[in-house]
Amino acid sequence: MRYEDFYRQSIEQPELFWCEQARRIHWDTPPQKILDQSHPPFRRWFVGGTTNLCFNAVDRHLDERGDQVALVAVSTETGTARELSYRELHREVNAFAAVLKSLGVGKGDRVVIYMPNIAEAVFAMLACARMGAIHSVVFGGFAAHNLALRIDDAQPKLLIAADAGMRGGKVIPYKPMVDAALEESHSPPSQVLIVDRKLDPQMTRVDGRDLDYATLRARHIDDIVPVVWLESNEPSYLLYTSGTTGKPKGIQRDVGGYAVAMALSITTIFDIAPGQVMFTASDIGWAVGHSYIVYAPLIGGATVVMYEGLPTRPDPGVWWSLCERYGVRTMFSSPTAIRMLKRQDPSWLKKYDLSKLKWLFLAGEPLDEPTAQWITDGLGVPVIDNYWQTETGWPAITLMPGLDLKPVKFGSPGLPSPGYRMKVIDDATGAEAAPGEKGVLVFELPLPPGCLSTVWHDDARYLHSYFGHFGEQVYSSLDWAIRDADGYFTILGRTDDVINVAGHRLGTREIEEAVATHAAVAEAAVIGVQDELKGQVPVVFATLKQGVTDAPAVVAHAMQVRVTDQLGALARPARIYLVNALPKTRSGKLLRRSLQALVQNADPGDLSTLDDPAALDEVRRALQRGP
Ligand code: ATP
Ligand code: MG
Repeated sequence: MRYEDFYRQSIEQPELFWCEQARRIHWDTPPQKILDQSHPPFRRWFVGGTTNLCFNAVDRHLDERGDQVALVAVSTETGTARELSYRELHREVNAFAAVLKSLGVGKGDRVVIYMPNIAEAVFAMLACARMGAIHSVVFGGFAAHNLALRIDDAQPKLLIAADAGMRGGKVIPYKPMVDAALEESHSPPSQVLIVDRKLDPQMTRVDGRDLDYATLRARHIDDIVPVVWLESNEPSYLLYTSGTTGKPKGIQRDVGGYAVAMALSITTIFDIAPGQVMFTASDIGWAVGHSYIVYAPLIGGATVVMYEGLPTRPDPGVWWSLCERYGVRTMFSSPTAIRMLKRQDPSWLKKYDLSKLKWLFLAGEPLDEPTAQWITDGLGVPVIDNYWQTETGWPAITLMPGLDLKPVKFGSPGLPSPGYRMKVIDDATGAEAAPGEKGVLVFELPLPPGCLSTVWHDDARYLHSYFGHFGEQVYSSLDWAIRDADGYFTILGRTDDVINVAGHRLGTREIEEAVATHAAVAEAAVIGVQDELKGQVPVVFATLKQGVTDAPAVVAHAMQVRVTDQLGALARPARIYLVNALPKTRSGKLLRRSLQALVQNADPGDLSTLDDPAALDEVRRALQRGP
């Protein structure tokens, strides 16, 4: 079917459209009502229907594809690759669920999962889903304080952790973080289940609290735990946003709507049919990992490859060697990762047989044109930028090669996904912006299936964070965007970061991209700094590629010329600082607000999601040195 017809139907006849889409999954009881909008901006999809994410991801495939590989867990850190068929996955998930049950976990209980990208993390998530327990995966790279904050918010009955993760060949012990987090937490769970990878021989256990998974698994390996059927709108899991703009929000997902969105997107967006192979190089701690390492590929009967390690170790060809080895059809990663590879020799992209690879999807941050061009040329497959948020759970703006591939336009993630009623709004007038005009990206109600139900425990925060801007009928994405005459969207940056120079508003992305067109530049971050005359002026922080020998002043001058040529004198950076690292969140997003705070001597706000504090020291030093 053509994208246009598919999309139009989803907007003009939403109930009919989603009733059809609901057939993609198994329901124990069919929905009685497709959409309930009696309490906007809340909405409920597939009311009265009962289903289960684990059943759809695992049990449902046993007859037809029990012996097909479901999950390949590759670790270039430990040098292992573990393959599990759907039947083996079923066995492990049941054993895990039986262990959880023996520890008193049941429907509605929260379970925090603090683990690296290993198969047991997937078993744990699916085991929770099977029993109706609500998992909340906390990215393994977060330190004790972040873990404690999320524990206090989710109030879990149980914490599941690994002894350690590994990164770049170094063991990173998790257990000391767990101990410190439980110390700090106001409502620590009374039990901790540890998957001991035997990476950390120094690991200590607290008697009576810390339990060994392998011991308990051995007792329950032949158990079968019945699926708990859940009403479509009951919570399935919580996942915290990246915290780029402030304190992370605990996004609450439902069951039925999410399952349908996963089943729909894996075929129509990611073009994966049952039996085909998807490789999602993300972390299970992020939204991309939840949806496209775990739920969507498995609900779709695919084979999914998950990865523990760096994209550059043992060498920068490692991902493509995995694509060759496993016959990957669709690869999914982030612009940040590709920018890391871009610093390396492009011949790595040509070393392996990628004849099965059809698509590379990238999400999470703006995909700049030079990077998009570089990777497209290098791999020789279409590269599909897709825009979404932890809140949406699946791509909101993308192309849909599983239906028909519309032209790829560099710089734009493409067109709205089914069910997304998208507009760009002029925030001064509240009216829809004309094509080519900038404004705030919003979604009109109802939000499609898969999107958040609310913020955990905090309906008030849900209302004021997303619906406090243009009335209760409009969800604000808090991103600044533009739609072109063909209906393609481009994301210009976050509304918080918009720079207002003498009444003209500029998205951070516009200036950052102009700066990054300079061959010496690896990455740039632009912020608006107060200025008496102009209100705000742009200030640039940039990192240079390895091996650049030009004098900093020469490079900085050339950057200014580029910005002025491409965007006009208004956008001309007032100052340019060259640094060795830029502050980012753990999920790889630029933390512009921390740069702005340093420059303006203001309170940097919540920095708990900052990846590398040294990057801020680096910026401090650069400020002392001067531009
Ligand atoms: P918080 O909401 O806590 O401030 P966050 O917005 O960074 O954190 P995520 O949900 O991980 O948390 O990120 C979603 C955001 O990432 C989007 O709102 C957008 O700003 C950015 N983003 C994601 N994909 C793209 C893309 N393809 N192009 C441009 N920006 C993107
Ligand atoms: Mg956000």
